[in-house]
This record gives sequence, structure tokens and C-alpha cells, in this order.
Amino acid sequence: MKIGILALQGDFAEHRIMLKNLGVETAEVRLPEQLKGLDGLIIPGGESTTIGKLAAAFNLIKPLRKFGQRHAIWGTCAGAIFLSKDVSHKQPLLKLMDIKVARNAFGRQLDSFEIYLDISNLNRAAGKDDPYHAIFIRAPIIKSVSGDTKILASIPDGRIVAAQQGHFLATSFHPELTNDSRFHEYFLSLVD
Ligand code: GLN
Repeated sequence: MKIGILALQGDFAEHRIMLKNLGVETAEVRLPEQLKGLDGLIIPGGESTTIGKLAAAFNLIKPLRKFGQRHAIWGTCAGAIFLSKDVSHKQPLLKLMDIKVARNAFGRQLDSFEIYLDISNLNRAAGKDDPYHAIFIRAPIIKSVSGDTKILASIPDGRIVAAQQGHFLATSFHPELTNDSRFHEYFLSLVD
């Protein structure tokens, strides 16, 4: 199995380290031809407008959409925004996953925070359902899900922060900045 990490901007290096520690081969993706031979793709956190503009500039939007028809894609934070169908803001999106997202949903005061999440919905790959230490950095919220999208985790006020639709996974937070590989393992379980 070989997993690509979209490496246009953001914290792609941390995802690589996480996968390396799980014994998974990875490749950085900056050009359409680099998608060849990959079994799945991670879109990291960073700045979704920048990732979107660079993806458009490198002619990656269409190839990424095509890749997503057959392969698993996981977007973390800015990556989740880029993967979504709707962000109520004019910026390039892949529009692959049936989620509506709101950027910077926690305002200034709470720009960044950490919280323990109940991820018992996800323990298929994880095998244990201890609370999950989640790091939010100027994070988006998943305002709503549609189609066959499942909610995987919410914060205590009910707002959605992790969802899955078939082989698409979206998280508002940054599993690559922790030592807990349960979300990475879960993503790998979605890769055919
Ligand atoms: N605020 C960023 C955006 O709107 C996301 C932040 C992040 O990826 N940590 O794209």
C-alpha cells in the first residue's frame, strides 16, 4: 500500500512521519502524474484557500476528483474544507464529500484548543475506544452532512468534527500532531 500526501502547503511532513511509523509507504504529491500508483491520499491542514489556489495552478483539481472516484481521501482541517462540497466562501474545492463546512468556526478567542473526543464510532480499526486527544487550530466545523455521510465525532455542544462518507474521511482537527495513530489507522482501513 502506498499513500500520497498532498504537499502543496501545510503540515504534510507530520502525516508522512505518522504513516512511516505505521510502516506505510508514502509519497508527496505536487503534480497530477504523482497520483499514479497511489492507493489513497491525505490532504493536510494548512490554509484551504492557498491549497485550493495552488491545486488549481498545478492543474490538480480534475485529477484529484478523478482519483477520489476510486480511492480513499482524508482531509484534515484545511484538507477537510478542500474536500467538502460547500464552504459558503468563494474558493476552489474538490466538492467530493457531502459535508457543509464553516471555516474558522471558533472565533478568535478560541482559535486553537484541545479537547478529548468520544470516538467510539470509529473503533473498527482502532480496537479501543479511549477518549481521543484532539488538537484544533483555527479549525473549521462540519455544519451538516448529507447523503450517506456518517458522523464520527462531535464536540460536547453537538457540533460535528469528524465524518466519513464511503472512502472519504474529514476531520476538523489534527491527528498528525499527536502520538495517537487511531485516525491514521482508521483511514488506512478505508483504503482498498
Ligand atoms: N483556518 C484554515 C482554513 O480556513 C484551516 C486551519 C488549519 O488547517 N489548521 O483553511
